[in-house]
Amino acid sequence: MALNKSMHPRNRYKDKPPDFAYLASKYPDFQQHVHTSLAGRPVVNFKEPEAVRALTCTLLKEDFGLTIEIPLERLIPTVPLRLNYIHWVEDLIDGQKQPRRGIDIGTGASCIYPLLGATMNGWYFLATEVDDICFDYATKNVEQNNLSDLVKVVKVPQKTLLMDALKEETEIVYDFCMCNPPFFANQLEAKGVNSRNSRRPPPSSVNTGGVTEIMAEGGELEFVKRIIHDSLQLKKRLRWYSCMLGKKCSLTPLKEELRKQGVPKVTHTEFCQGRTMRWALAWSFYDDVIVPSPPSKKRKLERARKPLSFTLPEPGLKELKAKASAVGSTGCSAVDCVTALLEKTLTDLRVLHKRVPCRKQEQSLFLTAVENTWIHGRQKRREHKRQLRELPRAPHCAGTTSQTAVATAGPGSPPPTSPPKRSSSQDEDTENKGTPSNEPSKEETQTTAGEQALEDVDMESSARTETGQETDPKETADAASESPPKGPPSPSALEHFLFKCLLNVMLEEGDVLVEMHWVEGQNKDLMNQLCTYLKNTLLKSVTKS
Ligand code: SAH
Repeated sequence: MALNKSMHPRNRYKDKPPDFAYLASKYPDFQQHVHTSLAGRPVVNFKEPEAVRALTCTLLKEDFGLTIEIPLERLIPTVPLRLNYIHWVEDLIDGQKQPRRGIDIGTGASCIYPLLGATMNGWYFLATEVDDICFDYATKNVEQNNLSDLVKVVKVPQKTLLMDALKEETEIVYDFCMCNPPFFANQLEAKGVNSRNSRRPPPSSVNTGGVTEIMAEGGELEFVKRIIHDSLQLKKRLRWYSCMLGKKCSLTPLKEELRKQGVPKVTHTEFCQGRTMRWALAWSFYDDVIVPSPPSKKRKLERARKPLSFTLPEPGLKELKAKASAVGSTGCSAVDCVTALLEKTLTDLRVLHKRVPCRKQEQSLFLTAVENTWIHGRQKRREHKRQLRELPRAPHCAGTTSQTAVATAGPGSPPPTSPPKRSSSQDEDTENKGTPSNEPSKEETQTTAGEQALEDVDMESSARTETGQETDPKETADAASESPPKGPPSPSALEHFLFKCLLNVMLEEGDVLVEMHWVEGQNKDLMNQLCTYLKNTLLKSVTKS
């Protein structure tokens, strides 16, 4: 199922959904609930609580060696969703394997989070529950899996969330708390009226009891607000506070509440499994915690990782070829001609470039931009001259486009003696590997200007300036029409560079496609600008001739 793509990358069911046929052959209790679809595939009816329970118990047994019992009249957890949350907690506390201490608020009859966390990661758990039936089952489930050393189930009064549970222990610092709160404010919500997100099995289970289990005064919003208020008292007693949400619309008011209360670290995520979406919120009072990026930001970052590109349509290629032979190109293919023209422009711009090996019928250039010569041409040069007059030496690059910075070109060249200032666009690379950044990230509630600029960069659209504004096409065209400074960059500044990228030229259905892949540097907006400049220059030569 498409949504499984956004399951947590470590979720064992991400690319490997449970094999119902195999499980049915191995577990007779489960077999009763497996039917054959019209297409001949083994299927389970998720509307039947018995079938859901059988699947959950079977998966816990088969994949985690856990034996649990759960009554039909209490919430039956689904394993892939619970795993998504466990893996996100791992990301938050950055420690899947070390012994960690957590609290599960409202552990349910299954006691599923503590059982999974203890089995998978050896985590210690304090599991709280208000409901007698749930408490009894949870206690039994812990005992029968021999996990009493790791998991302690406690019965708490309804009014309490974290405060009372922690009253007796004043010393211990917990690494996290997690909670799958009662989602609904009233019976109507629980029955799915006015809600696309009915997470519970059909109303039968709602009516058969377990009211505290799925309903709380004010629904999940109020429930989580109470946890927030407890956290404001407990602060650093827990490194991370977290909570799952059944409704996306709960996120904004809760984040607003955290912001209002001045909570320094806040993040959220979404859990996708099959057709079910859930959200989760986490906050911390520690400055040194790793803050995994929320998924929306990750998606933007992924987009930013895509190369910039432009296409030179087939009809104009003849003119480009003529233009290329005028500048001395001997190559005969459209790719060769476009590459020759690009090389000419790059030389004029004093952008260092070097051909590198690539696939047949393609050309690849490794670019090192050392000086911004492609935007505000006239103004930039005036400024540059002024700087040279006033300063004995060009200043160190610090994130503006007006500086001169030079480095050696070519892949595999030694790193510059002082690397360019670490930019937010590099921070994202850490993220892109699927692991949380090791840098304590900026709190999401207090977005910095730099972060905002990064958010605003849409690498797929036309070039934008560093402030996140669209580059005025006229300005870039003006810049393109001026002849940029001639001559290679001054060797006196051979220490720094603005950015490095790989430029590929290839044929795509008769058109020529130019792609620019970011390698490293100060700011991807600079590559964006250069890309627009190159595109304008090439297209201009087509329209002029
Ligand atoms: N964690 C389980 C159960 C979630 S349902 C799972 O994910 O499957 C929510 C649970 O919270 C119910 O079992 C309910 O009885 C319990 N609960 C409700 N209010 C509570 C409170 N104030 N403190 C602790 N548990 C509470």
